Amino acid sequence: MTGGNLRINEDRLWSRLMRSAEIGTGEAGGLKRLALTEEDAAMRRQLVAWAEADGFPVSVDRAGNIFIRLSGREELPPVLVGSHLDTQVAGGRFDGILGVLAGFEVIQSLKEAGIIPKRPIEVVNWANEEGARFAPPMMASAVFAGVQSLDWLYERTDDDGVTYGEALAATGFRGDEPVGGRALDSYFELHIEQGPLLQENDRPLGIVTGGYTVHGMVIRLTGETAHTGPTPMDQRRNALVGAAMIAAATNEIGLAYAPIGKATAARLVAWPNKPGILSSWAEVTVDVRHEDPAVAEAMRSDLQQAIVRSAERARVEAEIVSTWYFGDEVFDADCNALVRQAAERLGVPHMEIKSQAGHDAYYLSRVAPTALLFSPCVDGITHNEREDVPFAETMAASNVLLQAVMARAERD
Ligand SMILES: [Zn+2]
Repeated sequence: MTGGNLRINEDRLWSRLMRSAEIGTGEAGGLKRLALTEEDAAMRRQLVAWAEADGFPVSVDRAGNIFIRLSGREELPPVLVGSHLDTQVAGGRFDGILGVLAGFEVIQSLKEAGIIPKRPIEVVNWANEEGARFAPPMMASAVFAGVQSLDWLYERTDDDGVTYGEALAATGFRGDEPVGGRALDSYFELHIEQGPLLQENDRPLGIVTGGYTVHGMVIRLTGETAHTGPTPMDQRRNALVGAAMIAAATNEIGLAYAPIGKATAARLVAWPNKPGILSSWAEVTVDVRHEDPAVAEAMRSDLQQAIVRSAERARVEAEIVSTWYFGDEVFDADCNALVRQAAERLGVPHMEIKSQAGHDAYYLSRVAPTALLFSPCVDGITHNEREDVPFAETMAASNVLLQAVMARAERD
């Protein structure tokens, strides 16, 4: 196969990233493109328009995942490459989007060069990676990987009670294709690092060798409504206070295990959450993470003790109503080797790195040999509208993606 000198069209990739940044622009110039909103649908239509303008077949599965196909010389399972186009409520312009648009640039560059790979290559946009509107994150790739059912997916609700199924139908992207259950050759995802290590080490490329172990949970506190004035302090059962104490204790756990350990209270809701009345109900969403699974387990155990202590102190009942866990993902040695070889051929300095955030690649790694590539983001700022990336390094990583995917698609 020719194509060792093939490069993506860097200016076109950048201009598409900037076009994406116009769809659902946030207050501070980043993106607010929550999953299955009109903005998300508009970006999906833009992607499909780009694909169809170049004659690529597009298909959509029942979970709302979009696939764009470059046929191969042989009818073999495809190499999949992609990420997600949805964002956080105050999201950046590159988180997820780079992986989809760089993936599309891969197949477009091949087609323009007249190169037909041995295996098909499909670009994928995974629906609702962020979990910002419908929790938990990485929902549609979880269904694709057989970890969750389609019914479960459709029944998730947003804060307004709209179900995933309803929202998906409203976008027009509820497709006919079955979700997953088909043979894949492999999966490649390029994502911004969302941390400072690549920049600090002056490497345009991180090859992800594994993930931090993450234990997450939603804790529900049940107390009793009462007047904020006459109710004696020792008789109060304020659910909001119990939740707030858990939030503060979670942060202390993070500080105790820093800098490698991280612990986060990200969401707290209370009812009635009004002046003049104690809350009878609250929920707090927390997680702990560490690169060493044993330490992550110790952090989880500390958290559990903190929940008991906080509930006692606030005189409320605490119940863990949902839990999640990830971190035992294994990325594929052969796919990683192709990434490393491509980087070395292109002279792109690289390093091995562990992912501290969840990605669709985690679920895909359960059903296909998977590689996750990181490119730098400026000062590690992400899930923030100021998120930015350096042009040259981003393009260097994108060219490594191109060469690694080509090599995988062409292998014997
Ligand atoms: Zn992302």
